[in-house]
Formats: sequence, structure tokens, C-alpha cells
Amino acid sequence: MAKRKLWVTGILAILLLAASLILTSCELLDELDAILDIIEEESTPTPEGAMTVHFIDVGQGDSILISMPTGENMLIDAGDNDKGEVVVDYLKSQGVERIDYLVGTHPHADHIGGLDDVIEAFDIGEIYMPRVTHTTKTYMDVLEAIDRKGLKIKTARSGLTIPVEGARTEILAPDSDLKSDNLNDYSIVIRLTYGQTAFLFQGDAEKRTEDGILSSYDNIKAHVIKLGHHGSSTSNTEDYIEAVDPEYAVITLGADNKYGHPHKEIISLMKDKAITVYRTDLEGNIVAISDGKEVYFKD
Ligand SMILES: [Zn+2]
Repeated sequence: MAKRKLWVTGILAILLLAASLILTSCELLDELDAILDIIEEESTPTPEGAMTVHFIDVGQGDSILISMPTGENMLIDAGDNDKGEVVVDYLKSQGVERIDYLVGTHPHADHIGGLDDVIEAFDIGEIYMPRVTHTTKTYMDVLEAIDRKGLKIKTARSGLTIPVEGARTEILAPDSDLKSDNLNDYSIVIRLTYGQTAFLFQGDAEKRTEDGILSSYDNIKAHVIKLGHHGSSTSNTEDYIEAVDPEYAVITLGADNKYGHPHKEIISLMKDKAITVYRTDLEGNIVAISDGKEVYFKD
């Protein structure tokens, strides 16, 4: 009997040893992965010229122009219905003639309201929207403008990239199998890497989307984050902000808006983490420039 006990103990010990070896090698692999990520980022060559990111003041809403040194432009959202002309004028003032990549993050009016004006005013390349529809006139207007130009919507989903020349532009959300009654959950989230700098554009993504991104992506670090949902406390969780670890946060919103944005919890979270905040309600248009190594904001 004693011999048998010894055998069992021996086998158990071997099994434990094997299990711990497997576990350590998993940890080692994770560490190796992290090191490879760092090497990849540090070995990225610094690009020629600067990328400019304009957070256009459209009051309560979003509209972000990204101008590449190659001459390509990407526009994320175009503000509410009555802001279409503001966006069109701003783009013209920046010498924009063509929008190579147009993104409608989700079908709420404060994001897609001005898209029809933009589509009519400029030559448009590709249009990205999430796979979700809405019944509002605003949404129908956008679909009609897309149709009139003979354009086709590309469905944005996690895992795809937008082929912006000179940058890596990953779509982190929404997931292709998402089902939700909350249109904000469909927000297209984009992480754009230019040289060694990164920007994260959250649309109106809330906690649910942030949790999904955290479980699907190892590296979501960014120098600049356009905070989710106008600085709402239903977005911008501490876990998410810690993973992004930004130097700067931009909040797009209207002064004295009826939602109480930005929520005070978010402002104090930014303070706690020593993140510099820029707000369109206080500063108007906000312009960030990346030379591929560093990001700075125009006065
Ligand atoms: Zn919004």
C-alpha cells in the first residue's frame, strides 16, 4: 500500500511540475509578446512630414479631420444637422478638396447630421459606417446623399483597417456579432498610429465597448484620446483610461449642454491621472500635430 501511495505522490508531483512549466512558459510568451510590441513600435521609422488632427468645434457633437502629409484626408463624423455648413467651411479653409475616408461613427444626429452636406460638397473616397440602421430623417438624408453620389458604405467592424497612406488605422469596435438597443454601442472606435505616436477616437462608445476592446486588444496605448461620449461617465472607465495611458484627452461638446457633459467624475479622473484636457466648449477648434515622434497642440 505504502509503495502505491509513493507512486501516486510521484505522479502528482510530476504533473504539478509539468503544469507549472507550461504556466511559466505562457507567462514568458506573454512577456516576449510585449517585448516584440515595444520593438515593433520603436523600430517604426519616423515618417516624413506631420499629420494634423483637427477637432472641429461643432458644439454638442463630433467632427474630426485628420490630414496626412501625403495629402490624404480622413473625416470622422460631421456634427449635427445644422453644423454641416460649419464643417464644410472649415474643411475648405484647410484646403480640403477630397475626403479619402469618411467615417460615420454611429447613426446619432450629433455625429452624422452634417454628413450629407459634406458628401455633397466634396469628392469622397470610402465611407465607413457600422452595421446598424436608424429610422430618423437625418439618417435617411445621409443614405440618400451616399446614393446620389453612387457611393457604397463599407461596414466597419473590429479587426479591419482603413488603408490611410502612411498611418496604421485599426478599427477596434464594434464587434461584428454585436446586438444592442443602444446605438452608442455601435460606435466605430479607431486607433491611428503615426510613426511612434498614436491617437484613439472613441465616438460615443460606452463601458460595454471599452470592456470588449480591453479583452480583445493587448495594446491600446495612445498619446491622445478623444474621450467617449462627450466626457460622459457612462464611458471612460478608469480601467480603460489606464490601459490607454494618454498624455492628452480631447472632449468634444457644447457649452451648457443639457446632458451635463463633461461629467465631473471624468474631469477628476483626468486630474488624478495627470492627463491634460482640451475641450471644444472652452477652446473652440482644437488642432493637434504629430511629427511621428511627439504630439503637440497648436495654441
Ligand atoms: Zn454624441
